[in-house]
Amino acid sequence: MDKKEAERYRTLFETMSEGFALHELVYDESRNPIDLRYLDVNQAFERCSKMKAAEIVGKSAIETFGAASRQWIDRIIQVAVSGDAARFAAFCPEHQLHFEISAYRTEPGRVAAVFFDVTEASSDIRYAYRFLDSVVENIPDMIFVKEAKDLRFVRFNKAGEDLLGYKREDLIGKNDYDFFPKTEADFFTSKDRAVLDGKKLLEIDEEPIKTRLKGPRILHTKKIPILDEKGDPIYLLGISEDVTEKKQAEAIKQQLLHEQIAKEEAQTGIRVRDDFISIVSHELKTPLTALTMQFQMLPRILKNTPFDGKEKFFELFQSSIKQFERFSKLVDELLDISRISAGRIVLETQDSNLSSIITRALDLYRADSERAGCNLVLNLDSTIVGCWDPTRVEQIVVNLLTNAIKYGAGKPIEISTSRNGDNAVLAVKDQGIGICPTDQAKIFDRFERAVPVTRYSGLGLGLYITREIVQAHGGMIRVESELEKGATFFVELPLKLKAK
Ligand code: ADP
Repeated sequence: MDKKEAERYRTLFETMSEGFALHELVYDESRNPIDLRYLDVNQAFERCSKMKAAEIVGKSAIETFGAASRQWIDRIIQVAVSGDAARFAAFCPEHQLHFEISAYRTEPGRVAAVFFDVTEASSDIRYAYRFLDSVVENIPDMIFVKEAKDLRFVRFNKAGEDLLGYKREDLIGKNDYDFFPKTEADFFTSKDRAVLDGKKLLEIDEEPIKTRLKGPRILHTKKIPILDEKGDPIYLLGISEDVTEKKQAEAIKQQLLHEQIAKEEAQTGIRVRDDFISIVSHELKTPLTALTMQFQMLPRILKNTPFDGKEKFFELFQSSIKQFERFSKLVDELLDISRISAGRIVLETQDSNLSSIITRALDLYRADSERAGCNLVLNLDSTIVGCWDPTRVEQIVVNLLTNAIKYGAGKPIEISTSRNGDNAVLAVKDQGIGICPTDQAKIFDRFERAVPVTRYSGLGLGLYITREIVQAHGGMIRVESELEKGATFFVELPLKLKAK
C-alpha cells in the first residue's frame, strides 16, 4: 500500500461513524488466549468508550471494560482463534452501553472489531432496550443470564441482587464458584450444563441456596437455553422464584393437618374403645345375669322339688349350658380379635371334607334352629375336599348359620356347596330381615352392625372374623341381599392354599 493509499485508509478509519478497534491476542503461560490488547482505535471508539486512544492503546480489553464485559470480549477472542467472522450483540455494564459488534480476523493473532453503538442508535432501538431493561428489572423474581462457555454471569436484575445480597457489579463476569460453597456451585453448574447440552428448559422445583444476607432460601428455578442462529447455546437464562415462605407455610399446613388427623384418630379410637367396652360389658352381662339367676334358683328347687322331679333340673341345666355356650362364644370372638390385631390368624391346614365340616357344625346348632323355627335345607356336594384349617372353616359355617338363625327366625335356611373351578363355594341363604345395600359394604368391618342392639344381641365381630378367616385361606366372601327379603352369604375358598 503506498503512502497516499495508507493516508486515505487512515482518514476513512478516523472519520467513520462506527467505533473501530484493532486487537492482538493476549495469552497465559500455557498459551491459552485469555484477553485482547488494543493496537489501534479510532475516534468513534473513543467517543463511545468515553476514553482517549492514549488511555486505551496498549491496555487489555478486560482492563478497559472490566470483567463484566468478559462475555463479548470472549466472543471476539473466539473470532481471532477460529478465523470465522461474527456479528453479535453486546452489553457493557460498566459504561451502560449496548453494541452490535462485527468482528473479523485480519491476520493470525489479530482481530478487528467494528462497534455499532446501539445505545444512542435510533429511538426505536433505545426504546426497545429500555423497555426490555425495565421489564427485567421489575420482575419480582431473580433473573440472570450466564454465558454458555464459562457460565459467567452477564446479566442480573434487581430482585436477584436483593435475594443473593450481592450487587450486580460483584456478580457480572464471575461464576457460581466465586460465590457459593463448592457442593452448591457443583449442583448449579451440573444443572446449567444439562440445560445447555440438552438445549431444553429445565424446571427445578426446590433448589436450596445460601444467600449472603437472608440465610438459606429455597428457590423454584427455571433454566432456559438461548441459542444462536446456528442453534448452538450461547446463553443460559435463569428465572428463580423465592418459595421459602410458601414452602414453610405448606409445611406448617401439612403438620397441622397431620396433627388434626392424629387428634381425630385418637378421638375415634377412644370412641370405638368406649363403644366396644359398653357393648362387650352388655353382651357378657346378659348370659351372666341369666346364669346367676338360674343358680340362685337351684337351692329353692332342690328344697321344694320331690326327688323324682328331674325334668326341672334337666331344663335348668340345659338352659345354663346354653348361657355358658353363649358366654364362651363371646370370649372366643374377643380372643380372635386380639389374634387378628396381633398379626394374622395361624392356620393348621389339612385335607378337609367340606360336607363333614358343615354336618359337624349343623349337629351343634340343629336344636337352636329348630327352636327358632328354621327348617334346614341342605344341598351339599360330598366330594369337595380342600386343604384348609377345618376348625376355622367350621367357624365360618357356624358364624353364617347362627346369623341366619338370628336374623331369619321362622323361615327355612338353605346351605349349599358347589365347585367353581379351583374353588369351593359355600352359600348360606336365609329369608329373614335382609340387609340394605348401604349396610352391605360395612357389615364385614369391625363392630359394624345394621340392626338395633336392643333387638338383636351381638358384638358386630362375627362377619369381621369370618372374612379374616376366609382371606387367610386366600378366599373371598360376599353377600347378596334385599331388605326384608333375606340374605345369601357366599364364601369362596381355593381348594389348594395358595403360597403367599
Ligand atoms: P353380630 O351378628 O354380632 O351383630 P356380625 O358381624 O355377625 O355381628 O354381623 C354384622 C351385622 O351384619 C349384623 O349386626 C347384622 O346387621 C348384619 N347381618 C349379618 N348376617 C345377617 C343376616 N343373615 N341377615 C341380616 N343381617 C345380617
